[in-house]
Amino acid sequence: MTSFKDLGLDPKLLAAVEAAGYETPSPIQEKAIPYALEGRDVMGLAQTGTGKTAAFGLPLVHQLLGGHDKRTPKGVKALILAPTRELVNQIAETLRTYVQGTHMKVTTVVGGLSINKQINMLATGTDILVATPGRLMDLMERRAVRLDTATFLVLDEADQMLDMGFIHALRQIAPALGTPRQTMLFSATMPKQMEELSSAYLEDPVKVQVSPPGKAADKITQGIHWAQDKGEKVDLLIDYLRDEPDGLSLVFGRTKHGSERLMKQLVAAGFDAVSIHGNKSQGQRDRALKAFKDGKASVLVATDVAARGIDIPSVTHVFNFDLPEVPENYVHRIGRTARAGADGDAISFVTGEEIGLLRQIQKVMKIEIPVLAGDRPEEVDPPKRGGGGGRGRGRGGPRGGSGGRGQGNGQGKPKAAQGQGKPGGANKRRRSKVRRNAA
Ligand code: AMP
Repeated sequence: MTSFKDLGLDPKLLAAVEAAGYETPSPIQEKAIPYALEGRDVMGLAQTGTGKTAAFGLPLVHQLLGGHDKRTPKGVKALILAPTRELVNQIAETLRTYVQGTHMKVTTVVGGLSINKQINMLATGTDILVATPGRLMDLMERRAVRLDTATFLVLDEADQMLDMGFIHALRQIAPALGTPRQTMLFSATMPKQMEELSSAYLEDPVKVQVSPPGKAADKITQGIHWAQDKGEKVDLLIDYLRDEPDGLSLVFGRTKHGSERLMKQLVAAGFDAVSIHGNKSQGQRDRALKAFKDGKASVLVATDVAARGIDIPSVTHVFNFDLPEVPENYVHRIGRTARAGADGDAISFVTGEEIGLLRQIQKVMKIEIPVLAGDRPEEVDPPKRGGGGGRGRGRGGPRGGSGGRGQGNGQGKPKAAQGQGKPGGANKRRRSKVRRNAA
């Protein structure tokens, strides 16, 4: 088995890796690091939790340690783009452990915080800049940052950035970087645009992959619980949570308001629930995330956007209170559980208007998700959701259009496999949640 030492990393990095408690490289690290150290462009197909931050971070820092260029005012040597503030902070936190004891500086710029402070931080130059694309563009417009000194570019969770005007941002950002440049792109799924991105911004990339696209880790037990309406979903969720007093549950809602309301309902029912979504300030989001990571809050209600890329190692349950409108997000969501060899459950509550979405998810996943319990509702067309409320379909983002909505309206499908198909052992208590049916 390859060791970190075999990979030929700088001794300082070997010490950092040891201090972090990593014993052997994870599969994505084993595959990507040797190529990245050679300076090759890398296109990595890997989810959060696979160790991909180290897969690009270690070779990046290794190469920067070997360079002797001084920092220049406003200059940047390596640029990492990530979709959310949380992910940016998490990447920076990891990289800072790698550069500890060196002269290297890691700086973050994200929206929602004072731009003036960020301008000041950048003024003296930085080695590694971790940024969300929008705020970086603002800083570029203000001439607060020079990217022509940067010869490394990492696009992390690239698929999650596609619907955020990312393609447009990248068109401005990438040409501003120096040449030659090493580019690494990481994505959990491989929608068609990813190939386009790759051919536009990567040169002869090596493709590395740890699990086929759209396939969830085997350790995740997935299941569907039919629900007639939102009210029933709330009851179901509360029952599931009561059954798992020691669990750490991540609950996904569709909208900011819906997630907030749900969090409050859970608190009223006696749970230590917190929420993160776009209506929360950065401070509130940080506090909620910390409480959840520390185990002080046992339930985190989140929207897809807010939860992008965040790594919470000990999540035992993922609940899709609402199904994601972008099928690929299902993969991202359930990938938050079953980390580091643990088992995890991913349970989706599905109403009649979500059956179309469910079909699309199953198509992307190439599996049929087993039904745990409940009565399959009649399939109905989802209500038109013009503009307000829902999670933004990024301006001009390629994910927009017809994506997400089920077109099929095969009404009243045969009632197959109801209440059976219990997946795996984790389902032992998987209940007679037929309370409703009996009622
Ligand atoms: P990431 O996929 O980069 O978000 O990393 C997921 C988690 O795995 C983080 O908590 C890392 O600290 C941890 N990790 C990364 N590489 C290794 C490794 N080789 N061995 C053990 N843990 C690791």
